[in-house]
Amino acid sequence: MPAKGKHRRPKFLRLPRSIAVVGTGGAALALPLMGAVCAHAAAPAAAVPSAVQKVATVSIPGTAAEKTAAKTYVVKTGDTLVKIADRQHVSGGWKKLYADNRAVVGGDPTVIRPGLKLTIAGQGAAQPATSTATQASAAKATGPADAGYTLPVEGATIGTGYKVPGSMWSSGYHTGVDFVVPTGTTIRSVAAGTVVSAGWGGAYGNQVVIQHADGRYSQYAHMSALSVAAGQTVTEGQQVGVSGATGNVTGPHLHFEIRTTPDYGSDVDPVAYLRSYGVVVG
Ligand SMILES: [Zn+2]
Repeated sequence: MPAKGKHRRPKFLRLPRSIAVVGTGGAALALPLMGAVCAHAAAPAAAVPSAVQKVATVSIPGTAAEKTAAKTYVVKTGDTLVKIADRQHVSGGWKKLYADNRAVVGGDPTVIRPGLKLTIAGQGAAQPATSTATQASAAKATGPADAGYTLPVEGATIGTGYKVPGSMWSSGYHTGVDFVVPTGTTIRSVAAGTVVSAGWGGAYGNQVVIQHADGRYSQYAHMSALSVAAGQTVTEGQQVGVSGATGNVTGPHLHFEIRTTPDYGSDVDPVAYLRSYGVVVG
């Protein structure tokens, strides 16, 4: 049970969350949930600087004919081992890439510096460059299933779920999940990564965005205080701040998102994401 008094839903009928989330007759049924905690009326996009550019190039021109030869890859800003392994179709995925380059990467696979030269092992000719199916399964295999992931807050229930529709959100739906926690609760990074922004995020209040090894970003919003700074690396479970009610909210909670970029509008289902790493939410 979400802690009642922490949500302000005075004039709306409270419906089971499952109806709002999965109901196909959705819009009308879900409207009463508009009074939910998280009210991002203003688009916070401008407040979230795009600190990371997504570039991936190969220093040696690669063609299908050259696929069997080992090559050198120069790390660009915004790269991760997962992204590189994905785009270069490294068989064995990021783990193989990391194993082959551990000497230059060092002890933390989530931290690679621009300019670093990685060796990409030659691949068998049996792997055609044009096979979409092969690439898709290869991309899937890069999912670091044994990478350490954890909940951003312990033992909290979800107040407002992902994709719950509502007019107070600029996107028309809730772009994350709200964990019901009182102000002052420790908020932790769900996995190791690099802080790409930490500061005021407009409607999101005090927020932190962290890039992870798989190329995804986690966002922690409405905090009362921050414990990390942009550029800093964090470990799984490391404190990034304490919860609060800053920004556009009606009560204290943690708004948590998973994104494909550092920016608002690239959200994916955070519960499904955590579950894919073995972390069950609520
Ligand atoms: Zn929210």
